[in-house]
Amino acid sequence: MVIVGDDPASRVYVNNKKKACAECGIYSEEYALPEETTQEELLSLIDTLNKKSDISGILVQLPVPKHIDETTIINAIDPKKDVDAFHPINVGKIMVGNFDFVPCTPAGVMELIKESGIEISGKECVVVGRSNIVGKPQAMLLLHQNGTVTICHSRTKDLKEHTKKADILVVAVGIPNFVTGDMIKEGAVVIDVGINRLENKKLCGDVEFESAEKVAGAITPVPGGVGPMTIAMLMKNTVKAAELNKTHK
Ligand code: NAD
Repeated sequence: MVIVGDDPASRVYVNNKKKACAECGIYSEEYALPEETTQEELLSLIDTLNKKSDISGILVQLPVPKHIDETTIINAIDPKKDVDAFHPINVGKIMVGNFDFVPCTPAGVMELIKESGIEISGKECVVVGRSNIVGKPQAMLLLHQNGTVTICHSRTKDLKEHTKKADILVVAVGIPNFVTGDMIKEGAVVIDVGINRLENKKLCGDVEFESAEKVAGAITPVPGGVGPMTIAMLMKNTVKAAELNKTHK
């Protein structure tokens, strides 16, 4: 795990990931670099970790400081050690459906759906948000499971018209309580990816839980829904990376 700077949310995420590694018996190293670290210094560390045979997975906690180019950093990670699955090679593999790693948050959503015994095939699946980290890969994973997938985003006209049709609704927008009960179809499965910190320091999702739970057939809470699943999937990817790197030696 590599963390650059002292963003408090990033610190919490890295601590949680370190704790999860310890709980699973996965050896981990943390590289906490100062805010003023240069891109070259970070690239040099990634190069060292790419070559280090006792390290199977590399995770650079995003966002990195503004003077460092995120894409250059993602592209520098060995795709076989890319446990976040952000490298273009892994993104491309997800697109064609023949992948080693799945980005942790969408993978966690899929696992929640599967474990709850919910069928995806033939269902109307609506994903609100089109980020590279959540929305886009989420849509691809639902498509691979034969869902009929719609992606909504900031330029979508009449969002409610789309969300109302969803049998499975995944919301990853980053706006507190953005989706309300009146935007949800009776009995729909509602998965809230959002993690927003309110002024009173409380965490809340992108879905207004109180009004949504009255209409939804199943709904995830925030905190405690998708968040812990994301970390669990990171552990799964890390074990996969260890297996992959063993066979590539
Ligand atoms: P992002 O800011 O990269 O993307 C937000 C997306 O929402 C964009 O694609 C945008 O088009 C869409 N959007 C914005 N306004 C909209 C509107 N009015 N109508 C429809 N769509 C709109 O965010 P992200 O990285 O995808 O994260 C989204 C949320 O999920 C955030 O709250 C983030 O904290 C959370 N998140 C949670 C986890 C987890 O582990 N649970 C992981 C990643 C992100």
